[in-house]
Amino acid sequence: MILPKANKLSPAQLAEVTGIVAEFGCRIQPIVGAIRTIYAIVGDERDELMISRLEGLDYIDRIDRIQSPFKLMDIRSDLATHQIRIGGVTLGRELLVIAGLCTVDPKNPNFVYETAQAVKEAGGHVFRGGVWKPRTNPYAFQGDDKSLDILMEASRRTGLPVDTEVMDEDQLNLALAAGVPMLQVGARNALNYSLLRQIGAAVAGRPTVVLLKRSLHMGPISEFISAAEYIANFGNPNVILCPRGTAPALDGYRNHPDESIVPLLKEKTWAPVVIDPSHSVGKAAYVQSCALAAVAYGADGLCIEAHVQPSKGIGDDPKQAVTPDTLGNIIRLAKQIWALRRNAAVG
Ligand code: PEP
Ligand code: MN
Repeated sequence: MILPKANKLSPAQLAEVTGIVAEFGCRIQPIVGAIRTIYAIVGDERDELMISRLEGLDYIDRIDRIQSPFKLMDIRSDLATHQIRIGGVTLGRELLVIAGLCTVDPKNPNFVYETAQAVKEAGGHVFRGGVWKPRTNPYAFQGDDKSLDILMEASRRTGLPVDTEVMDEDQLNLALAAGVPMLQVGARNALNYSLLRQIGAAVAGRPTVVLLKRSLHMGPISEFISAAEYIANFGNPNVILCPRGTAPALDGYRNHPDESIVPLLKEKTWAPVVIDPSHSVGKAAYVQSCALAAVAYGADGLCIEAHVQPSKGIGDDPKQAVTPDTLGNIIRLAKQIWALRRNAAVG
């Protein structure tokens, strides 16, 4: 990783650096942070001659070599000061709340507009809505391109940015063309490396934020952070990690709630962590406890399924979505816990 003395390299300096690393079979990937740009050396960066030639350039501050499978997302990375902002919230400074429907029902757009308004009034910052859905049952409703227009209309009416899941390149392109500012990678695709690469390439150079769910099975923490690295190494480091419960499930819950991994993640990566209690526990009645526990564990935010009339929703909403009143209560209490942690300076 190359750190220039100035906030970024000039085009001539970038060309010189690119030329040097190319002689050693490497290339340069600029990573544009909020304050400065750093330059990842992609390839085998261990050649001492290459390093000393780079260190010899008078506009280079230093070369950092992090021995980590996820050197950009690593807590020791120079990106550790990078700040991600969405919905008026800078992650880490204020609790981020993403809330809304599991699934946008194209037959009932009013539920979408009303829920978006209710999320805003409850204090949510980002409105979520599934346009395309990964369904276990191949005969269940799979989503609809038309729902994208409804989601964007909800965004226009409320001013809330939106989050939706994309599962392939066509959906990715449609979502970006429509102006979706937050893309979700679902648990089933969390280890789909070609999709992660496509998303990374598509969001490079844009302010888009990616919400990366943890994969369904209880994989190692490093596997989760490495998946984020797949996206970030194309140049956009706005990746948020989202644990959402793992399999096998805890008897009675939909999955095995995993909000307790927040401190572990925080030890290894600077990436913000937003917990999804809804898919973790899978039942509206348990969502509040899981959400509050997540904040007590140090989560930077929550992603909650909510609906103005859960019983009239589709997808997960009838069983999992909380009402706007419950959402408001969760947000109020979660903010108190977040402030308690911050004032007590819990690590
Ligand atoms: C969802 O957010 O509605 C969803 C399908 O989530 P996950 O990928 O975590 O199952
Ligand atoms: Mn869902």
